[in-house]
Amino acid sequence: MIDSEIFVNKVVKDVLVRYHDLWALGYVSSVAYWDTETYMPGGAIKERSIVFGKLAVLRQKMLLHPEFVELVEKGEKEEGLNDYEKGVIRVLKRSIEKLKKLPPEFVEEFSKVTNQSRVVWRQAKEKNDYELFAPYLEKIIELSRKRAEYLGYEEHPYDALLDYYEEGLLTRELDALFSKLKPHIIDLYRKILNSSEYLEKHPLEDEKYDKDKMHELNLKIMKLLGFPFEYGRLDISAHPFTIGIGIRDVRITSRYAGFDFKRSLLATIHEFGHALYELQQDEKLMGTPVTGGVSMGVHESQSRFWENMIGRNLKFVEAIHNDLKQYLPFIEKYDSYEVYRYLNLVRPELIRVEADEVTYNLHIILRFEMEKMFMEEKVDVKELPQLWENKIEEYLGVRPKNYAEGILQDIHWSQGSIGYFPTYSLGTILAVQVAKKLEKEVAPLDDVISKKDFSPIRNWLKEKIHKWGAIYPPKELIKRALGEEIRVEPFIEHLREKYGKLYGF
Ligand code: MG
Repeated sequence: MIDSEIFVNKVVKDVLVRYHDLWALGYVSSVAYWDTETYMPGGAIKERSIVFGKLAVLRQKMLLHPEFVELVEKGEKEEGLNDYEKGVIRVLKRSIEKLKKLPPEFVEEFSKVTNQSRVVWRQAKEKNDYELFAPYLEKIIELSRKRAEYLGYEEHPYDALLDYYEEGLLTRELDALFSKLKPHIIDLYRKILNSSEYLEKHPLEDEKYDKDKMHELNLKIMKLLGFPFEYGRLDISAHPFTIGIGIRDVRITSRYAGFDFKRSLLATIHEFGHALYELQQDEKLMGTPVTGGVSMGVHESQSRFWENMIGRNLKFVEAIHNDLKQYLPFIEKYDSYEVYRYLNLVRPELIRVEADEVTYNLHIILRFEMEKMFMEEKVDVKELPQLWENKIEEYLGVRPKNYAEGILQDIHWSQGSIGYFPTYSLGTILAVQVAKKLEKEVAPLDDVISKKDFSPIRNWLKEKIHKWGAIYPPKELIKRALGEEIRVEPFIEHLREKYGKLYGF
């Protein structure tokens, strides 16, 4: 299975042969994960969880096997490796280093605490009882600080956690991005609220749809965008997700509330973007550790590109208006522009996952500021809900009525994922840079969309980003693809232009 055209070095080839066991283990774990989230009977979860625990330990054992570690280290010393070979060694070395630095007792404790904590978080959210969750959050924060110390960092302990999700990302860089972004978004948001075009509610939000019909519509839209159904599928789950089982088996899910169809439609388009990234990786990378996308931020840039730059585009709504009418009869009453307005409503939304394109990043900035504070031991766990409520009120002008609308809304902290949130913003910002570069090198997005042939977009993304897998570190891949690093200015410009037109200023 090793492609001898791109993998030439003998040591790297040996590494890859040995890696195949890990790859196969990852493959079946992904099938099991997909099944857990879609079709597994609920009562099977106890047994399934034990299997997942065993698989994680097995993976660690295989990755840290002295012979394998030695082989990877030998590969690192080889001279004249090509980019593919260097990528393989870099990715494996990163995983090994992270695992090696954490003592087994720590890994076990972290896993135990987060497993309990997820359950408690769910109860706390239901009962609106922060006190119940607080001791667990305190423990998770303490363990995260410990984790940062074990892993090591140069500038800020939070850097060690960020690096898990976005290789090489620094707190300092996020400070710079967010401090530029924040005043612009708040200013734009206030202008929208004061606009005569501002809508507190749109009638399309209450229109009820037939869930089967909506599913058919989602399939039709995926087909239009170019989803290769011989290599993937669409199913239903509580929270939409994408999973790459193999390089040619990538599955997505969506959800159906029965009303407010944009949530289902945009979630499907979002997950399509994640899936396309994985599906367009070079087939030569099959079975290697450099598949699956390079980082959370770059992955999210692909989903956000399709969701925000295509899905929320007026030309796209015009292109699919007849399909919408076919599957959602109530659309007869609304012209394309009205549907477009509905897809782009800006509002004081307390829930991050429901937030619009303008305010979304404020939700992330709030979480980033809080994570940084607790990593710096600047805030007590008892004070966190109040801090949250004050911040969201300052940014959006609304205050949560309960903890579920505030600090208990997201699962991330309960599972120990601290440092993850910022990658959502990176993706949202990068998506605009991707669109602008694509327009420069291919054609205006509006023109491509109007022709209802998305292959020029897919091909460009494949050549510039997708086919490379994780060969280059994320910052390098971005530089190669876009000719620049991440910047907030194009994003700010995009928002001002689009929403200025929509809200008449
Ligand atoms: Mg996503």
